[in-house]
Amino acid sequence: MTTTPAATTDAPADVPAVLGLDELLAAVTDPAGREILDPATGELVGRAPESTVEDLDRALEGARRKQPEWAAVPDAERAALLLRAADAVEANAAALAELLSREQGKPVQNGPNALFEVGGAVAWLRATAALPLEPETLFDDESGRAVLSYEPIGVVGAISPWNWPMMISVWQLAPALRMGNTVVAKPSEYTPLSVLGLAHVLNQVLPEGVLTVVAGGREVGEALSEHPGVDKLMFTGSTATGKAIMRSAAGSLTRLTLELGGNDAGIVLPDADPEAIAEDLFWGAFINTGQTCAALKRLYVHEDVHDAVCEALTRVAAAMPMGQGRDERNVLGPLQNRAQFEIVADLVEQARAGGGRVLIGGEPAAAQPGYFYPTTLVADVDDDNPLVTEEQFGPALPIVKYSSVDEAVRMANRLDVGLGASVWGSDPDRAREVAARLQAGTVWINKHGAVDPRMPFGGIKSSGFGVEFGVEGLKALGVPKVIAS
Ligand code: NAD
Repeated sequence: MTTTPAATTDAPADVPAVLGLDELLAAVTDPAGREILDPATGELVGRAPESTVEDLDRALEGARRKQPEWAAVPDAERAALLLRAADAVEANAAALAELLSREQGKPVQNGPNALFEVGGAVAWLRATAALPLEPETLFDDESGRAVLSYEPIGVVGAISPWNWPMMISVWQLAPALRMGNTVVAKPSEYTPLSVLGLAHVLNQVLPEGVLTVVAGGREVGEALSEHPGVDKLMFTGSTATGKAIMRSAAGSLTRLTLELGGNDAGIVLPDADPEAIAEDLFWGAFINTGQTCAALKRLYVHEDVHDAVCEALTRVAAAMPMGQGRDERNVLGPLQNRAQFEIVADLVEQARAGGGRVLIGGEPAAAQPGYFYPTTLVADVDDDNPLVTEEQFGPALPIVKYSSVDEAVRMANRLDVGLGASVWGSDPDRAREVAARLQAGTVWINKHGAVDPRMPFGGIKSSGFGVEFGVEGLKALGVPKVIAS
């Protein structure tokens, strides 16, 4: 089964072991566990352990016992351990990317896919280690002195989705660990092996017990969110689950960061150059086959450039091969699961029934083993159509023509979500003016979804609250404490 380099398990302690895929799988699978099938082929990837609520209780007790010891480690040492953890992930990138590709579906090599995701995990570990975290003197004058610092919260629960399982887990656990918390992570039931594999590599470096993964179903997530042994919950997933988590967390007044669903709008201004923006528009919408929280999910195009944008985007889309992740030609993979495939297929049918004009795609092949839905562009869609108003989370982009920028801004802002948005045009000042009017946590200009560990990232409205990344994101994993004299 393995195609990754041979293992070196006798590496010195300060040099991370380099595992092959078979060794990684052997370390994280359970012969009696649940079958995990490759979404591209239906083949068995491995059997995932199914933890119970009792396992969760034990993991939380262990994390609680360990936490004071971890918090007592000087911050500079914790940061140094995150850097070493990044080195370990980098050294194991080949096996991790292959595991991720088989379980999640994204291609290994090309484009912003599995190796890109593992690289993102490395980059975020390093960036989080480098964030400044000095006590801040608020004032020091004749009236007195006040110093603000951040202390660990305690035990952090980290619940993640299946679309970018390794990178999102790192977004949650790296700042939590840096701040001196211990972490119990609950991956999606669709992608447990990716997170178990990542944690196996991280735990070569981290002290025992600071990071535990409890792989189980929704009931384990629910138990984690209502558990009195959790002090802060980092949740990334759907808005519906976010609401359920907020209700469960109320009993213990557990702090929350909620990174929820989005339906990001992009506005193409009349002065945009269709040829120049087409490829970036494509990746803004179709990265990870559209299964990305801050992807471009509805595109508003001015009537002056509408037809040219549709043509350029269709040409780019037609040139992007989709298929099995280990075939190096492919840049797009399947949808990760049957339910998501059906959501996308149903929304495209509703767009077609509502008068939408399919420019490309829209017809999945009848007999195929994987959940492949072709790259689909639908023009002439009504702004009330479900393909526009609901989060498709897949490779189907609706294109809506507009004639005034005010109208485009109104349509972009009218939904009850606000994760990302983008403005596309040739005049940067004009684009920034429009960006300032859009309701979203991040608005990009002439790109979409380009998250960066230096920029706080989070949603408004039903896309959640709290931010990740940057110093603001790090402080969200601590509690502020002022000493005033
Ligand atoms: P989901 O909400 O179905 O599941 C996410 C996680 O929550 C899984 O681990 C699941 O087991 C767990 N869970 C389910 N029910 C639970 C409950 N009642 N209590 C506690 N945990 C529970 O989401 P998904 O389908 O895995 O992910 C797709 C969604 O995630 C999309 O809406 C997408 O936009 C969103 N997302 C948001 C961001 C962001 O940063 N804002 C990033 C990625 C994905």
